[in-house]
Amino acid sequence: MKKIYFSVILLISAGAWASPLTVASPDGKLKVVTDVAGGRPVYSVIYDGNTILENSPLGLLTDVGDLSNGMSLVGSETSKVSKSYDQDKIKKSHIDYEANRLVTTLRNDKGHEVSVEWLVSDNDVAFRYVIPRQNNGETGAMVVRSEATGYRFPGETKVFLTSHSEPMIGWKRTKPSYEEYYITDAAMDTPSQFGRGFTFPGLFRVGDKGWALLSETGVDGYYCASHLSDYNDGVFSIAYPMPEENNGNGTAAPGIALPASTPWRTITVADNLAPIVETTIPWNVVEPRYETSRPGRPGRGTWSWIVWQDNSMNMDDQKTFIDLAVDLGYENILIDAGWDKNIGYERMPELLGYAKDRGIRPILWYSSSGHWNDIVQSPTNKMDRPIVRKKEMKWLRDNGVECIKVDFFGGDKQETMRLYEDILSDAADHGIDVIFHGCTLPRGWERMYPNHVGSEAVFASENLIFEQIHCDLEAFHATLHPFIRNAVALMEYGGSVFNRRMNRDNKSGNTRLTGDGFQLATSILFQNPVQNFALTPNNLTEAPADAIAFMKAVPTTWDDTRLIDGYPGKYVVLARRHDDKWYIAGVNALKEPVKVKLDLSALGLKGAEAVIYADEKGKELKAKPLKLKNAASVPVEIMPDGGFVIVCE
Ligand code: CA
Repeated sequence: MKKIYFSVILLISAGAWASPLTVASPDGKLKVVTDVAGGRPVYSVIYDGNTILENSPLGLLTDVGDLSNGMSLVGSETSKVSKSYDQDKIKKSHIDYEANRLVTTLRNDKGHEVSVEWLVSDNDVAFRYVIPRQNNGETGAMVVRSEATGYRFPGETKVFLTSHSEPMIGWKRTKPSYEEYYITDAAMDTPSQFGRGFTFPGLFRVGDKGWALLSETGVDGYYCASHLSDYNDGVFSIAYPMPEENNGNGTAAPGIALPASTPWRTITVADNLAPIVETTIPWNVVEPRYETSRPGRPGRGTWSWIVWQDNSMNMDDQKTFIDLAVDLGYENILIDAGWDKNIGYERMPELLGYAKDRGIRPILWYSSSGHWNDIVQSPTNKMDRPIVRKKEMKWLRDNGVECIKVDFFGGDKQETMRLYEDILSDAADHGIDVIFHGCTLPRGWERMYPNHVGSEAVFASENLIFEQIHCDLEAFHATLHPFIRNAVALMEYGGSVFNRRMNRDNKSGNTRLTGDGFQLATSILFQNPVQNFALTPNNLTEAPADAIAFMKAVPTTWDDTRLIDGYPGKYVVLARRHDDKWYIAGVNALKEPVKVKLDLSALGLKGAEAVIYADEKGKELKAKPLKLKNAASVPVEIMPDGGFVIVCE
């Protein structure tokens, strides 16, 4: 059941407004104070009496006029928002959202007008610009050239950020694709790796006063995706796409038809990390854009490409991995790049039929390109234009394919956002779900697009195969994602690797440093409704039997998610519930074992019987019974590069 209530308490008033306006969360702890100082609109964010953002700029610079300077506050309006909804594909299945709303209206002496809409719930601020037609209604077309919007944190703040890539670099000139290294607990003036700023989401620790996670949501084909600038004059600012993206084609400045509103920018704030990990703000302020004949389908799958790589893109190896999916009781087989050439369109019905006969659903890979990169991995030129794309979607449907994975997008420009939306929309018309890879951060898309079932936008498992440094950093990255990347969007990582060496023969290639318990833990930590695990046929006999038994039973959808303990970059313990079963998963990136006493008292556990799968030094992973004598203090030791999962009801 979906219920939405909006009630307007105070309507727009006219005249000059001298004093600042404040909107507080329902519990009163989180406050936004907004004002106009010397013609410039500004805002501050205060949590529990502590300043999190101070005197931060607002406004837009457009081809119609400057809506960031020379402004006066000419009106305001407040109301309450109360919303309950069910949402699959994310960290929680049912969400209750309560917020207080403030809309301030600003005008310059030329009569150009913009409103800022604020929604403040107990731990989240969401705000956006609402722009009416301008020049007495005569002007309906606008280009937003840039934004004044910024975030001024107190000087003691430390950052956890990942750099935005230089455009048109990397593999076949496919970047940016949100696959860069993180800086953690770093000074605010730490330069980004490429001088191009940092991608959303960004995590900030304001001394010992609190945490803030910045992101944006509600981005679609009517706007560009934005990111954060480098720290400049005390402020991180909203930055638009780089003109060089998409090989220089397409505008970096979004064009909008008035009246319009921008995407929501979100600030999750708390005095501890749990509300950051558990936030649902990316979905609270957006609505589904269309209906589909069925909800996006969750499931587990195998894929040969991840460990066996390009040479495995042949009929025999694909059948082997369909058989592996059957052995594991999985639902999907991901058939990656090169199937059109190595197997061929004419032989695909045989392979797809082999999967169908065994109850396994195929996922087929495509490149999105296109003129925006040099990709040779095929199929190419099937997803970039509507006539060929629609023809391809029909071929997929006629051959029983209900999910595709589309790779190698060109950046964050409005025209690329439009391509994402066009692919999703055409796929939806044919009952097809979509995973994006080599892509942007999805911004509210789990809810906006019912058939969106995955996006990469992270250093995913493929990097373990490519370079040893990613094996070296595997635990470090795993302790960041629940607090940052995976906190605001699903994350298609493709992990749980049980080969010790990152190669088909399990004897050569990069070396995995992490334990088998760690690999089980990431199947819980990394949330995506479609999980394509990096299991290979030899794992059935070579990996610990209890690990394989766990992987056969692991769910991919969640009713609830709670942070239990941890610190980004050091260790993390997370609990997720599927129906009545809790999975408590932890990993450790420190050089020493971490001894934690887990407080599970808030989970409402029914019994004292649990099973633990934990890495132990020098021992093969085994499932062991665990008595929860005191749910408020469950001692667990997490090995360096190790992990554990506790399963209980
Ligand atoms: Ca990638």
